[in-house]
Amino acid sequence: MRQRWSAAALLLVAAAGHCQAFTPAARSTCTCTPASTRAGRSNGLACRALKEPQSEEELRSAIATKNEDLSRMDKDRLQSFAAADEEFLAELLKERSYLSIVTEKAVETVDSLLTAGKGGDANAPATGVKPKVIVLGAGWASHAFLKGIDTDMYDVTVVSPRNFFLMTPMLAASAVGTVEFRSITEPIRNVNLGANYIEATCTAIDSDSQEIVCENVVCEGTSCTIEDFRLPYDHLILAVGATSNTFGIPGVREHCIFMKQVTDADKLRRAIGNCFERANLPTLSDEQKQAVLTFVVVGGGPTGVELTAELRDFIEQDVPRFYPNLVKFVRIKLVEASDRVLMAFDEELQAKALRDLTERSTTLISQGFIKEEMTEVMLNVGVKEITDTTISLSTGETMPYGLCVWAAGNGPLPLVVEAIDQISEQKEKAGWGRGRLVTDDWLRVKGAKGVYAIGDCGVVDQRPLPQTAQVAAQQGSFLARLFSRGYNLNAPVPEKTGGAKALSEQLGLSSDKSGKFAKGFSFMNLGILAYTGGGNALAQVQVDNQRVKGTGAAGFFLWRSVYMSKQVSWRNRILVAIDWTKARLFGRDIVRF
Ligand SMILES: Cc1cc2nc3c(=O)[nH]c(=O)nc-3n(C[C@H](O)[C@H](O)[C@H](O)COP(=O)(O)OP(=O)(O)OC[C@H]3O[C@@H](n4cnc5c(N)ncnc54)[C@H](O)[C@@H]3O)c2cc1C
Repeated sequence: MRQRWSAAALLLVAAAGHCQAFTPAARSTCTCTPASTRAGRSNGLACRALKEPQSEEELRSAIATKNEDLSRMDKDRLQSFAAADEEFLAELLKERSYLSIVTEKAVETVDSLLTAGKGGDANAPATGVKPKVIVLGAGWASHAFLKGIDTDMYDVTVVSPRNFFLMTPMLAASAVGTVEFRSITEPIRNVNLGANYIEATCTAIDSDSQEIVCENVVCEGTSCTIEDFRLPYDHLILAVGATSNTFGIPGVREHCIFMKQVTDADKLRRAIGNCFERANLPTLSDEQKQAVLTFVVVGGGPTGVELTAELRDFIEQDVPRFYPNLVKFVRIKLVEASDRVLMAFDEELQAKALRDLTERSTTLISQGFIKEEMTEVMLNVGVKEITDTTISLSTGETMPYGLCVWAAGNGPLPLVVEAIDQISEQKEKAGWGRGRLVTDDWLRVKGAKGVYAIGDCGVVDQRPLPQTAQVAAQQGSFLARLFSRGYNLNAPVPEKTGGAKALSEQLGLSSDKSGKFAKGFSFMNLGILAYTGGGNALAQVQVDNQRVKGTGAAGFFLWRSVYMSKQVSWRNRILVAIDWTKARLFGRDIVRF
């Protein structure tokens, strides 16, 4: 009971922050009482608090009045609400200790299982028709959202040009044949059988009419037709990810292979085979063979480093068997514009990564295939231009190459750029969002009612997070919980208006002890991992101010265990385990179709 009243006081203090903006009738309920000061607010805010309600009915009616008034408030007033209620919001958004986040996430996982389908109808229109939720994309963020969303409450449609989820962290391994493409993909229809899936690309968002414009390309034989159509939404979840950033460097788009989709990995796998077959032709000089077998990876982030490591493994473990005479011509160059690789790791691990890539003892030297290390990491070197045969570097050097993979960072998709341009609030924040849609702490796109951005295409205002699968998946689950647990997402702070009480709320684990208001999204860093080749990997876990680190075989064991556990289905787990075993026993598959 005591808890209920202090929660009520909190709630009413929240309402008090905008008392001055209320209608005269509402304002008349504002008084300054000792009880409100007892509720823990000794600042000016408490002095504007409503008197404590005397009964549950009174409490309900106070909440109803507050909601009514909130919904009438214009944007400026909402902003003043946020400013006046800083303390209340800070409670909901405050940084928590690692242990409390771990506990909370664990309880939330149990919650999701227990309360699925019992959320209530906070966002349902008065007609009783299920609200239409459209999810754009079939990646990490949408996969997590689809797993958590209750399709008894919402009419959910996924629109994506790709009808499968892709386990991106294993893309590099699939490009050299360590695992197969089909082992790291999962049909998106499998994720939530209650959701509809439409294979199409969203080309525009009409936020006035709350519709999206889609395009579907159907090809039969040699002719293709394009079908355009529109879909209405009540809630639009943007989870379209990002694209590769070429920074406008000439020749990148035309001559490089990107590392985003299965089709890219497939292209790379063919290109690697192509380089070896070309170099094996009797007409090529030694110099030409070396040029064709120079593999360049641009970008020293996790994608670039892992790809370099996988390439090196492939060349060390499989090439001597198939192309013994070509091993000596192979060169791998990792080009990075800054002075370090793997920025997110600490310096000790960055140095270890460099050693693993370039100084690790290789059987190729001991067996006499090569005299010196074939991998070079070129730091502080930028790419200026790429032609079909050469790469011009910032050092003035021109490097001949056989294939070049561009893994130099993310850029926004045209759909996101257009959305930012159309929404004035987004335009104002464009410098800060840097090509991502800026959201509030509940992942609602600022300035666009009913639109949400999760994963790589969004960024929480003033709380930037890295563009990773971990963040995307946690945001997808978080948003699905808000939807499925009956929070009113139109309220300034999403407020629970129906449905079952979640376990975390019952246990008092939410910031707002009443469990009425949704906490803002908080990211739980499960750690970062990177494969550095030859059975070595780096692992770094941040627990509050402490960093736990692992390298070498221990890191590799952790890396494989995590990748295995993060597979989205048992089918994938079994297929990946078989692929790893197959590659170990029989070597990688180099057949090209
Ligand atoms: C090679 C590689 C390795 C990585 N390794 C790691 C790692 O080890 N750990 C980690 O945490 N992160 C890793 N990442 C990053 C991680 O993959 C991304 O952060 C994550 O995929 C983002 O998820 P998302 O849902 O936002 O976007 P994505 O997973 O990219 O999904 C976007 C979806 O949107 C669809 N789409 C695009 N445009 C439209 C449109 N107009 N209309 C409809 N649908 C559209 C796409 O087809 C796709 O289905 C890696 C990324 C890559 C490329």
